[in-house]
Amino acid sequence: MQAIQGLHHITAVASDPQINVDFYEGLLGQRLVKTTVNFDDPGTYHLYYGDEVGTPGTALTFFPWPHMHRGRVGTGETSAMAYIVRPDSMDWWANRLREAGVDVSDAGLRFGQPVLQFEDPDGMTIELVGSDQVVAIRHWQDGPIPEAHALRGFHSVTLLVEGVAPTSDILTGQLGYVSAGQEEERHRFQAASQEHGIFVDIVARPGFGRGAFGAGSIHHIAFRTVDDSEQLEYLQALRSAGQQVTPVQDRQYFHSIYFREPGGVLFEVATDAPGFMLDESVEELGTALRLPPWHEGLRDRIEARLPVLDLPRRNV
Ligand code: ZN
Repeated sequence: MQAIQGLHHITAVASDPQINVDFYEGLLGQRLVKTTVNFDDPGTYHLYYGDEVGTPGTALTFFPWPHMHRGRVGTGETSAMAYIVRPDSMDWWANRLREAGVDVSDAGLRFGQPVLQFEDPDGMTIELVGSDQVVAIRHWQDGPIPEAHALRGFHSVTLLVEGVAPTSDILTGQLGYVSAGQEEERHRFQAASQEHGIFVDIVARPGFGRGAFGAGSIHHIAFRTVDDSEQLEYLQALRSAGQQVTPVQDRQYFHSIYFREPGGVLFEVATDAPGFMLDESVEELGTALRLPPWHEGLRDRIEARLPVLDLPRRNV
């Protein structure tokens, strides 16, 4: 069984969808690559952002529930997500974010790399990590950010847990991650690939208290598998190791299995195939509401409930 190659996507909770799209597409330059609904709650959007085509390891997705109260960070969840930027883009980003009224803090060096920290409009912690590592992403040429400064896919996520070992045992024992060092309370683990999205950091905060789910919370993180057969191997291996894993769910653009790792964080294993170009061309990505075949019959009712989104790309 091939080791996991890194993160596939990260899914979080937002409140207002227009504020969400203005922030991620308009300010951060992450292209809205898919406008669909929460398949388990089709009256709500599911918005996918990424590089030009939503390459695995760039896809950040949101369930925007307009009246959702704000979450509170605690143990048993992903407390932050980080993007790669070139080291000489750090000042450029700090200026761009501050000009937009975003409070940016310099988090110093982490494993030798500079880190900027800020929050999205719902309070989710985002970090930019300066790194020259090679990435395999597709820059969105028509987006608002010049290629030299663009976000270059995920760098890492930070998992906040009561104790490191139960979670690290899953990463190393089941998903093929290897230890990549420790810095103070932060334990870093690395996936097999050399590309973007390969780090998972675990921070133990015993007694800190569980997180409260709400807007700004990261709901789950998904790891990459190539296709259904590799995913099936993971499903069987995880079940053999005693994890309660869901059956395969058809998410239209990928297939998913889920399990809650022993530290409390919801993990998903998703397939790279078939990807976001299943039902749209590169040019069309994100521009129209896409529904899976099993919800298409409800399109009129679904569209009547969803607010119309004004994409920042139309206003440039
Ligand atoms: Zn997911």
